[in-house]
Amino acid sequence: MAEEGRDVVVELGFIQNTPAWKLRSKFFPSKVGGYPAWLALKNLPTNEELSCHICSKPLVFLCQIYAPFHDRDYCFHRMVFVFVCRDPDCYRENDASNIRVFRCQLARENEFYPNEPAKDTDLGSESPGAGDFNNLCRICGALGPKTCGGCKVARYCSKDHQALDWKSGHKAECKNPENISKVSCSGHAKFLFPEFEIELEPEELEAAKEKSEEEVMKDYEELLRSGQVTHQNDEDSDTENDLINMATQETDKQFQKFRMRIKDYPDQIVRYDRGHEPLWVSSSNKPADIPPCPSCGQPRQFEFQVMPQLLVHLKVDNPGKSIDWGTVLVYSCKESCQQDRNYIEELAYKQDYSPISQVMKNHPCAAAS
Ligand SMILES: [Zn+2]
Ligand SMILES: [Zn+2]
Ligand SMILES: [Zn+2]
Ligand SMILES: [Zn+2]
Repeated sequence: MAEEGRDVVVELGFIQNTPAWKLRSKFFPSKVGGYPAWLALKNLPTNEELSCHICSKPLVFLCQIYAPFHDRDYCFHRMVFVFVCRDPDCYRENDASNIRVFRCQLARENEFYPNEPAKDTDLGSESPGAGDFNNLCRICGALGPKTCGGCKVARYCSKDHQALDWKSGHKAECKNPENISKVSCSGHAKFLFPEFEIELEPEELEAAKEKSEEEVMKDYEELLRSGQVTHQNDEDSDTENDLINMATQETDKQFQKFRMRIKDYPDQIVRYDRGHEPLWVSSSNKPADIPPCPSCGQPRQFEFQVMPQLLVHLKVDNPGKSIDWGTVLVYSCKESCQQDRNYIEELAYKQDYSPISQVMKNHPCAAAS
């Protein structure tokens, strides 16, 4: 992906159905869901690092983006991983305490992979993979230091995942240790998000530019109107109108910009635009200042953002309380500094919609459908 001349071009990520075997570590995939395809196969993030800051439970792998720095030998391979908490109760507005991001990079010559990339024309073996060097949790694919006392084969990151696996089939399977595989029979299917490849393509701006400001305003007014016509009772509609008025006044010009920009590519799930300005979903709740890289002290820069459209593919975008975001922004060390750890935590920031779009999203009619 990312070439030198990409200053002006944002790369958009789209969902792609790809056979699971092509999404393993040796193919360096950008992907959503399933187990993480770890880049460095040793010294994975600790279970502590992969836990939610709010509920302390293990996070689930959301996505990873393959994003080498072409001008740095030590970033010949480079991957950024995003993990989120599955518990809807941990989703707080404009707060990313339940989201954690890790960066990993390798030189072309490294201890895990051959210099020439693996051919993705035939199935081949799963190796090299993190399972060759570590015991991995059958549920989530993180380090699995805990062993099932029954079969002494199944490994887990936590009591939580052991219990989940037990309930979803390991109880029966445990009696036949010789048949137990490294992946859970069904537990991981319940915990992990569906797995897809992310295909990155340059955003072609031509089309977006042709949309006049006027046209965008018209769409926007329609959106407002559609939210206004259907209130259920006076109290509610007062609140709604207040919100709509407030939103119309300040408004969120930024939200219009957001809608205009994604209109031609409504299926985009990721925007990769390293070193540039994110596409905000709202003009409020932008991060005031991004703390520098704790490892080297250099500033962090915006790298990419996860779009709300991804929620649709996670099968969690239900009405009511759910995993949710306007956009998740990832900031990483400008230098992508080399450290003695393989996985370096970077910064996630969650921006949610301004009041107007909350009204649209939470409207009783929308929720009922
Ligand atoms: Zn949580
Ligand atoms: Zn686990
Ligand atoms: Zn067991
Ligand atoms: Zn750094």
